[in-house]
Amino acid sequence: MTKHTLNDSASSWAQGGIAAVLTDEDSIEEHIRDTLVAGAGLCDPEVTRFVVQHSRETVEWLIGQGVPFTREDGSDSYHLTQEGGHSRRRIIHAADATGHAVQETLVDKVKKHPNISLLEDHVAVDLISAKKIGRRSNRCLGAYLLNKASGKVVTIGAANTVLATGGAGKVYLYTTNPDVCTGDGVAMGWRAGCRVANMEFVQFHPTCLFHPKAKSFLITEAVRGEGGILTLPDGTRFMPSHDPRAELAPRDVVARAIDFEMKKRGIDCVYLDISHKPADFVLSHFPTIYRRCIELGLDITKEPIPVVPAAHYSCGGLMTDLHGRTDMPRLYAIGETACTGLHGANRLASNSLLECLVFAKAAAQDILSQRASPIPILPDWDESRVTDADEEIIITHNWSELRRFMWNYVGIVRTNKRLTRAMHRINLLRDEVHEFYRNFRVNSDLIELRNLLQVAELIVKSAMERHESRGLHYSKDYPDVLPDAIPTVLTPSNYYSLLDTPHGE
Ligand SMILES: Cc1cc2nc3c(=O)[nH]c(=O)nc-3n(C[C@H](O)[C@H](O)[C@H](O)COP(=O)(O)OP(=O)(O)OC[C@H]3O[C@@H](n4cnc5c(N)ncnc54)[C@H](O)[C@@H]3O)c2cc1C
Repeated sequence: MTKHTLNDSASSWAQGGIAAVLTDEDSIEEHIRDTLVAGAGLCDPEVTRFVVQHSRETVEWLIGQGVPFTREDGSDSYHLTQEGGHSRRRIIHAADATGHAVQETLVDKVKKHPNISLLEDHVAVDLISAKKIGRRSNRCLGAYLLNKASGKVVTIGAANTVLATGGAGKVYLYTTNPDVCTGDGVAMGWRAGCRVANMEFVQFHPTCLFHPKAKSFLITEAVRGEGGILTLPDGTRFMPSHDPRAELAPRDVVARAIDFEMKKRGIDCVYLDISHKPADFVLSHFPTIYRRCIELGLDITKEPIPVVPAAHYSCGGLMTDLHGRTDMPRLYAIGETACTGLHGANRLASNSLLECLVFAKAAAQDILSQRASPIPILPDWDESRVTDADEEIIITHNWSELRRFMWNYVGIVRTNKRLTRAMHRINLLRDEVHEFYRNFRVNSDLIELRNLLQVAELIVKSAMERHESRGLHYSKDYPDVLPDAIPTVLTPSNYYSLLDTPHGE
């Protein structure tokens, strides 16, 4: 089941491709090494080996399903690209729309499968645990789902439940993620008692188009690779004063420099300028970007592109083992919702789709090996004490307030003072949202706001616990790296959170 349509997901938007060891020139050891270097000491070596070792069979499985990966010109072999951080060409792709090709192929199979029932436009509200209905031994028994068409919450019992709800980019003002990425799985798992890890490591893409009518449009790093320069609104180039590699510095360095200039000068965006290159060069190298910008009245062959950094990928999530199992029996987490240990403090490009696929198979095999266990009668969602909301504006207002202060205080560069300010605001919003949730009928905006707030709290708490700058977490108060790399693990029982659920359970 999915809260919108099946294709409305980050997976559909993935552009670059899938990392895998597919040639004799490449090796499992090299892919592992590249992943560990990117992860800045925090990747779990066993998990990294497990994923990389399964990369080839995973891609072969996709090819077997019919995914149309791009081939070399005039040859049967597949074209592989190289991305930042990879020491070899190992990214298999379908032009610049890999995720779309994978989704289209698999969704088609799913729709035709006689044993699969699909529910679109259903939002999971909360998990149902055995403990909450008074059983001694705990396990996940299913979930409450809001049917968006009817507005009713239905109860679905399940022998096994898999959370594959994606990332949480929408917790920030600017994000490359689609609207569905509101961290629902992490929040539901946490409320049900599962641990989360490494939530402070949020990857920011340095250049997302800044335009009121174009949310979430990525401007590929290749624009900088081909000579694009970053400027302030008055045309002054600023990257050389931040790093000798200027615009070609790594992603996190460029994102930090842009963030620094925006905060220092109070400007809304910076500019990425490729207009000094011949127009036919720009058109042939960046046709998609050119087309999208022209639609918005912006000719990138003549003028600079307004850009901001944007939240791109959540490395943290619900802690899982090599089978995708969370802390709660019969509850699995797969993909960006999970923290398997693969990404450590920074994700290596194109390792995330690979992780989704490898762990989906591992979880499926684990589920098949489980003995069937009957599901008890589950209580219905209780709406006896709630009414329709009188003022939806509270939800809209709190959504934008949350995303703005997370951007300003818990973004690319953090300080103790900013984190404390953010936590203070989270505490205020929590009371308001909690009150709203307690008294009014749920709708998808309220469910998402509640989850975003929970995820924001987890990000801030994790960031506060890390007294160093490592990987994607950069603190002005702790600019050094500590000698020991230790994951940040949060346990629900140790923290006050939005655990109280007046409905249903
Ligand atoms: C623009 C972009 C480009 C990227 N490019 C690459 C790339 O080239 N290579 C790579 O490896 N990675 C890439 N990534 C990252 C990668 O796409 C994601 O990490 C990955 O697709 C996440 O998959 P997922 O299954 O975890 O989540 P998603 O694909 O986002 O799917 C989540 C699903 O859960 C549903 N859902 C969420 N909450 C609920 C709820 N409460 N109830 C019901 N349904 C719910 C959503 O509707 C959605 O269908 C990119 C990401 C973006 C945004």
